[in-house]
Amino acid sequence: MALGFERERERMVVEQLEARGIHDSAVLAAIRNVPRHRFVAPALCGRAYDDTPLPIGERQTISQPYMVALMTEAIGVHGGEHVLEVGTGSGYQAAVLAELGVRVLTLERLPDLAAHARALLGALGYLDRVTVEVADGTLGRSAGAPYDAILVTAAAPQIPRPLIAQLAPHGCLVLPMGEEDLQSLVRLRRGREGLVEEYLGECRFVKLLGSYGWEDP
Ligand code: SAH
Repeated sequence: MALGFERERERMVVEQLEARGIHDSAVLAAIRNVPRHRFVAPALCGRAYDDTPLPIGERQTISQPYMVALMTEAIGVHGGEHVLEVGTGSGYQAAVLAELGVRVLTLERLPDLAAHARALLGALGYLDRVTVEVADGTLGRSAGAPYDAILVTAAAPQIPRPLIAQLAPHGCLVLPMGEEDLQSLVRLRRGREGLVEEYLGECRFVKLLGSYGWEDP
C-alpha cells in the first residue's frame, strides 16, 4: 500500500541521509517505510521531508530526519532488542525503531503529546511493538530494565543516572548533552571495562526537563 509522499521520502533518504554518511541499510529501509508526513500537523505536511526539525505543538519539535537516522544508526539495533526512548514527541522516532523490529518503551512528560502519538502509532499499526507512557523519562522505567539501548531525544545537562543503571551489559545510551542551545551527541557503551564515551557531533534539541534533567520552569 502506498504511504503517500513516496518521491519526497526517497529524496530525503538519498540527499539528506545517504549523502551524509548514513550507511546502515536496515536503518535506511526503516525510514523509507515510515510516513513522516503523518507525524506533523496537516498544515506542515508539505515540509515533512525537509532537512529540518518541525514544530509539533506545546513548543516541542519532531527531530530533523538526519538526526533521527544518526541516532538510530548509533544504537546499532537490528531486531529483537528492547529499547527505551525518552521523549516520545510526535512518535516518529519510535515508529522508526519499531520498523527495525525492536520493542520500544517510549516515555513522554506531556500527556497531550503522548496521547496523540499513541493514537497515531496505533493507526499506523505499531502498537504491537511500541508502548507509550506518560512519565518523567529522566528516571527511566526500572520495571522494564535492563534495556539494550536507550535513546534520549531531548537535550540533557548531564547523563541521567537512573538511565545508566538501566542499561544492559553491552548496551548503549545515546543522548544530546550540553548547554541549552547547543549540545554534543554522546554515545555511552557499557563494556567489560566500564562505560566508554564517544562524541558523534554537534546537535540542537529541545530541553529534557525533569528530576535528572533541566529544572521545570
Ligand atoms: N523523538 C521525538 C522528538 C522529541 S522532542 C519525535 O520523534 O518526534 C523532545 C520531547 O521530549 C518533547 O516531546 C518533550 O516534551 C519530551 N521531554 C522533555 N523532557 C522529558 C522527560 N523528562 N521525560 C519524558 N519526555 C520529556
